[in-house]
Amino acid sequence: MNTNKEYALQQDKEDSIKAFRNEFLFPKDTSGNNQIYLCGNSLGLQPKNTAVFIQQELDDWSKYGVEGHTEAQHPWMPYHEFLTEQMASIVGAKPSEVVIMNTLTTNLHLMMVSFYQPTATKYKIVVESDAFPSDKYAVESQLAFHGFDPKKGLILWKPREGEELCRFEDLEHIMETQGDEIALLMIGSTNYYSGQSFPLKKITQLGHKHNCMVGFDLAHGAGNIQPNLHETGADFAVWCTYKYLNSGPGSLGGCFVHERHANNSKLKRFAGWWGHNKETRFNMRHEFDALAGAEGWQLSNPPILSMAAIRASLDVFHRAGFDNLIAKSKKLTGYLEFLLKELNNPNINIITPSNPEERGCQLSIQVKNANKEVHTRLTKAGVISDWREPDVIRVAPAPLYNSFEDVFEFVERLKGVL
Ligand SMILES: *Cc1c(COP(=O)(O)O)cnc(C)c1O
Repeated sequence: MNTNKEYALQQDKEDSIKAFRNEFLFPKDTSGNNQIYLCGNSLGLQPKNTAVFIQQELDDWSKYGVEGHTEAQHPWMPYHEFLTEQMASIVGAKPSEVVIMNTLTTNLHLMMVSFYQPTATKYKIVVESDAFPSDKYAVESQLAFHGFDPKKGLILWKPREGEELCRFEDLEHIMETQGDEIALLMIGSTNYYSGQSFPLKKITQLGHKHNCMVGFDLAHGAGNIQPNLHETGADFAVWCTYKYLNSGPGSLGGCFVHERHANNSKLKRFAGWWGHNKETRFNMRHEFDALAGAEGWQLSNPPILSMAAIRASLDVFHRAGFDNLIAKSKKLTGYLEFLLKELNNPNINIITPSNPEERGCQLSIQVKNANKEVHTRLTKAGVISDWREPDVIRVAPAPLYNSFEDVFEFVERLKGVL
């Protein structure tokens, strides 16, 4: 690697999936040039095909009305099934373990209804410190719902004094000392703030050794790392599709339930008609008869337009090949890390782990002694990134649509701003 622009251009030339960049719509600056978009961890860019997929459903709705449930080119009744296989492969699960439904925080609550079954003595929940606020609110409100004091019931897995990242040994220590009181581990697979990816299988094994349920939030993992959900043995996982999965603002979430729970009738659940046996769903007088697997947790008939956007996005992932994406992602983020280090600026500190196995594409860059002004100036310079108080810029070169030249340009502009 070197710091010349030629190097970036050469890498782009050799990139076997570079063409996919042209399948996305980029926000432009005032002179009509693409902005340097490094915010796919917050809202992924729009595939050009999304409009086509959505238009198809609008056309079928106008053509068939209610009959579109069976007559549409992609019939609406089983529509969620068209997403399952490709989504399952992106999160490393079996198709029967995955369903697209609701939104992330809703799914997290539904999963906790089933997998958080506290007793008077074993009721605590562990989350990583600096978990995303919504996850923390969800967990705290579940504790309160079951009559526990959230302050007592919530255990934070924290970085040590003066450190930014969580150490697995410290989670082990929590489990060894308080495991008898803990009912659930609910961990973000990839932390939204630090970009740290956790060892999911080791965490699952640790939790299960202490008779705890284990669930993961893949909001920053899905489409970014390969979490191999089935292999980890986790009980459940949830994620959204509007970050790395490019399915549009507020789009539906994903949900994983491990196959060992597929027919577990002991699990309580909140039920709805879309989770009911497909054969008798429209014979409206049957008692609830849950579908086996993740599908059995569905509540409502789903929003087809949003699912059409997910289909458009999964189609791009499928054609690019997820293994190719992960391979490019490691190179691209490695290059970004290299250029940042070459700046030799004592005020710049990369919080995210440098081991590629412990991160996805995001790097969280702490700029010491800086304030939000740095971010404002970066934005004026045509870079879309993300600022977190007090002093962190998060950038996420997404391998589907970002180039080595994007990364080079970002670092050039950052240099200018500093
Ligand atoms: C983005 C994100 C959310 C957002 O939740 P929604 O229910 O989709 O609004 C929740 N948790 C994490 C960890 C996130 O990164």
